[in-house]
Amino acid sequence: MPENDAARPNRRGGDRRRTTRGFGRPSSSLWYVAVIFLLIGAAQVYYLAPAGKTIPYSQFKDLLKAGEVEEVTVGEQTLSGTLKQPLPDDPRQSKQFTTTRVDDTTLTETLESHGVKYSGESVNRWLSELLGWLIPLLFFVGIWAFFFRRMNGAEGGIMSFARSKAKAYAEDEVKVRFTDVAGVDEAREELKEIVEFLKNPKKYTNLGGRIPKGVLLVGPPGTGKTLLARAVAGEAHVPFFSLSGSEFVEMFVGVGAARIRDLFQQAEAKAPCIVFIDELDALGKARVQSPVGSHEEREQTLNQLLAEMDGFDSRKGVIIMGATNRPEVLDPALLRPGRFDRQVLVDKPDIKGREEILRIHMKSVKVSPDVELHVIAARTAGFAGADLANLVNEAALLAARLDKTAVDRYDFDLAIDRLIAGLEKKRVMSVKEREIVAYHETGHAIVATVLPNLDPVHKISIVQRGFGALGYTMQLPTEDRYLMTRKDLLSQMAVLLAGRTAEEIALGEISTGAQNDLQRATDIARAMVTEFGMSEEMGAVNYDGAKRPRFLDIPFPQERGLYGEETAQKIDAEIKRLLTEAHESARNLLRGNRDKLESITRRLLEIDVMEGDELRQLLA
Ligand code: ADP
Ligand code: MG
Ligand code: ZN
Repeated sequence: MPENDAARPNRRGGDRRRTTRGFGRPSSSLWYVAVIFLLIGAAQVYYLAPAGKTIPYSQFKDLLKAGEVEEVTVGEQTLSGTLKQPLPDDPRQSKQFTTTRVDDTTLTETLESHGVKYSGESVNRWLSELLGWLIPLLFFVGIWAFFFRRMNGAEGGIMSFARSKAKAYAEDEVKVRFTDVAGVDEAREELKEIVEFLKNPKKYTNLGGRIPKGVLLVGPPGTGKTLLARAVAGEAHVPFFSLSGSEFVEMFVGVGAARIRDLFQQAEAKAPCIVFIDELDALGKARVQSPVGSHEEREQTLNQLLAEMDGFDSRKGVIIMGATNRPEVLDPALLRPGRFDRQVLVDKPDIKGREEILRIHMKSVKVSPDVELHVIAARTAGFAGADLANLVNEAALLAARLDKTAVDRYDFDLAIDRLIAGLEKKRVMSVKEREIVAYHETGHAIVATVLPNLDPVHKISIVQRGFGALGYTMQLPTEDRYLMTRKDLLSQMAVLLAGRTAEEIALGEISTGAQNDLQRATDIARAMVTEFGMSEEMGAVNYDGAKRPRFLDIPFPQERGLYGEETAQKIDAEIKRLLTEAHESARNLLRGNRDKLESITRRLLEIDVMEGDELRQLLA
């Protein structure tokens, strides 16, 4: 029937496809296992099977009494032997017989009295016992091999997996240069020194200087850490070994450690060169004491890395670079001198940096002349380098879809809108939030500049940091200070409270962004009252007692001096009075500079990062 005919080849075709595709590899190895089992089974049946005709014990006894039995072998459970002539009812006419042994104490006597040759059996026992072991063993080995091959399938074999995968990533000539990286000027400056050293190690070591062994690039995702590491290798014209931290962490204990050892051996042979461990946090997480010891493998790998870094002679010219966006989880041992002792911050770019990055990525794209880079840069606050690269690509795709000959403003506008919508989920500051942060930081900066005798403001930034802080105002001391007067401390508190005060004045509302400021201001006030004797009300008394050393760093639940409840209340009241005083002074200063607060905030919103000099000019 046509139905049947059509269905049959179809089904067969389907079956074949499934065997070759989905189960191809495993089934072929399973076949071997099956064949081996069959052979073993057959051997067992052959050797252990009772030979000849099986007869009841009673018949054997009768035959024995009749003198028909020639020879008997007494086994553990069976008796077998030969008869003088075959049994009449046996179709095969075999003289062999077997019978099940019965507990019969008179057997030997009977055998002897009829003159039968007899012997005990032991020949087959070792074989059966061996097979009894061998079969389950082979079974498990088979299963193990099966899974092992599956897990290891991609790598091509059992023997190769201890060798470092880094080999595959060793590049002799890296094409990336510093000109391909923009917006991270400070990081680039720091890395130039590394390049210098790699180019000419002798120059540095001749004077006895110690070369940094490890450089850790720290920064939010997509800011160009990997790119920078490659650029260092490219600029210095040295080989580049790169591996991701997660590649070290394997299922089998010891493999990661072996990989590290191998990687460093390869690197040493190729020095000068760079070993780059990307996503260092995957293997460098702080070691924890866990009762189950579940992180055995990662710890072993990390220990091996630490040992290799220690045992490494940096004068040979191997620089170890690492990158992470989660420096806070790294094991402190990694950051000790002689290991990753240099840390380079690779931060999100400011408006100027964004413009440069856009320029780099637009080189390979046909852009229409109406596209203004600084406009795009201004609209993409909070974008990292990778986001900007993505933006250019997205705009190019949009233009291509509309069959345009060049990418124009509208494509970029649309692409920005799309990406911002996507990034908002990744917590990029909204316009409203940026405004709050800008007022907040400007508040800090104005008060820090206007009040006398404080460290000058070096920089204000509202570029979102990867690690929590939304903006910052950086003050740099011009000289070392050993003493602070009461007035200095009050000024400092005023600066700390000024962020929140600016929000209050400009927006009529306060945000959660000031939590850290408040904590630090309160700490200062408390120290003034209880340690420095700077409160008239409380007098020149140290209420805290000598600061006790902490036992094993476990903080005491209550760390305060020996004073009564009444004193505690007075202290709290004094702290509050000092804070209010500082707050008041910040408020007066900012009210007096209301117009400056506005204009500087506007400017900061435009340029993301303001240098101290520009701030002082605007305030003058
Ligand atoms: P990270 O390692 O910090 O997560 P990558 O170096 O992998 O970031 O960056 C991914 C891509 O984004 C790079 O290949 C590059 O095209 C682009 N990019 C990132 N940062 C920059 C930058 N500062 N300058 C130019 N391009 C950048
Ligand atoms: Mg990276
Ligand atoms: Zn603040």
